[in-house]
Amino acid sequence: MIFQSTKTASIKASLEEAIFNSLPADNGLYMPEYIPQVSAEFLAEIETKTFKEIAVEISNTLFDGEITRSEIENIINNAYDFEAPVVNITPDNYVLELFHGPSMAFKDFGARFMAAIMSHFLVRSEKEIRILVATSGDTGGAVAQGFYKIPGITVTILYPSGKVSEIQEKQLTTLGHNVTAIEIDGTFDDCQKLVKEAFLDKELQSKFNLASANSINIARLIPQSFYFFAAYAQLKKLGKPVVFSVPSGNFGNLSAGLLAFKMGLPVEHFIAATNLNNAVPRYLESGKYEPRPSIETISNAMDVGSPSNFVRLIRFFDDDWNSIRSKVSGYFFSDEQTSTIMQEVYKNTGYIMCPHTAVAYLGLQEYRKVNRADLTGVFLSTAHPAKFLELVDETLGIKTEIPEKLGLLLHIEKVSIKMKPSFSEFKAFLMK
Ligand SMILES: *Cc1c(COP(=O)(O)O)cnc(C)c1O
Repeated sequence: MIFQSTKTASIKASLEEAIFNSLPADNGLYMPEYIPQVSAEFLAEIETKTFKEIAVEISNTLFDGEITRSEIENIINNAYDFEAPVVNITPDNYVLELFHGPSMAFKDFGARFMAAIMSHFLVRSEKEIRILVATSGDTGGAVAQGFYKIPGITVTILYPSGKVSEIQEKQLTTLGHNVTAIEIDGTFDDCQKLVKEAFLDKELQSKFNLASANSINIARLIPQSFYFFAAYAQLKKLGKPVVFSVPSGNFGNLSAGLLAFKMGLPVEHFIAATNLNNAVPRYLESGKYEPRPSIETISNAMDVGSPSNFVRLIRFFDDDWNSIRSKVSGYFFSDEQTSTIMQEVYKNTGYIMCPHTAVAYLGLQEYRKVNRADLTGVFLSTAHPAKFLELVDETLGIKTEIPEKLGLLLHIEKVSIKMKPSFSEFKAFLMK
């Protein structure tokens, strides 16, 4: 598969280059030069396939010989020991639960695949890799779990001190081995800035192979398309058009859904659901893209004022506003609407949603108001409610049970390196 930069079509990369470079030199993002189609036979019998079989087929279609089918099977087997089940909540409304992985957020799908495909290439090239990642919460946990104990790769995670939940912090700071957590006395933006400076530093670049593990890396985007196919497989028998509502921040998840659609997945419509960080819904409404500084909300994993995957979103539609509007609708919601719907759904169905999932549910309901066709609605659940324990318990007036894999963490001592947001200090740490 050949990738090209969104900014300069002549800047091209192989799959391996795109994964290890993360970003093209012109600061664009990598996109497939050409999007291959899944076969009609595959779609005709998709309902008989397991998640892993679907993941192998999609990868094989995309990688077309660059990685053999048996190598792909190996990668998928190493990446996934968890599923993406669809659960019926109310008539015609289904939740796609993406929180059954090790860190209990959907980012496990991308991080696990990225780790597995990187180690596949490393076996061939014997390079040492240092992954740097800045996190505001969920990314760090998924990346730490994904790369834990993978030979030839070390992971350095930067997080803002006091600004992630207790469970999230424990996910970053309790693994050890090849995973190091740096606790920055500053904000998420400070962390991101330090990582960016490291990538630009010639001395660090010559000493190490630095790679990024955030959603600009194509290796995180591709595997997120698997579960759109897997959800369709579970719902196809209902025989109705399928719409997906995607709770969005940096828009990696929705970009992956669009990739699935462009590969031939029959999707009626997509809903871009956000909190008050609403640059994309406003763009879909007005045609003007005006990113703003992010604002804090209760669905904090989506507090992104300037989504990094926006350029990918519109590139799927040749940068044409009318064309993207015919396939994607955007809606945004306040914290009050979010907590009210969490309470309502809990009261009526017993189902507990995290605030991000609730935003997706609201998006689906909003779409139904203007589009009464007989539809199967799927909203994506991006995190287990226990990851946002205090907020969920307070909103619903309950005591959420903590799943074992999160609960055990709370008893392990955190280990972090405290640091000021100073590049010279960070560089000195990396160099030694
Ligand atoms: C990262 C995250 C999101 C946003 O996903 P994007 O791909 O950045 O749009 C939504 N919900 C949760 C729980 C997340 O961790």
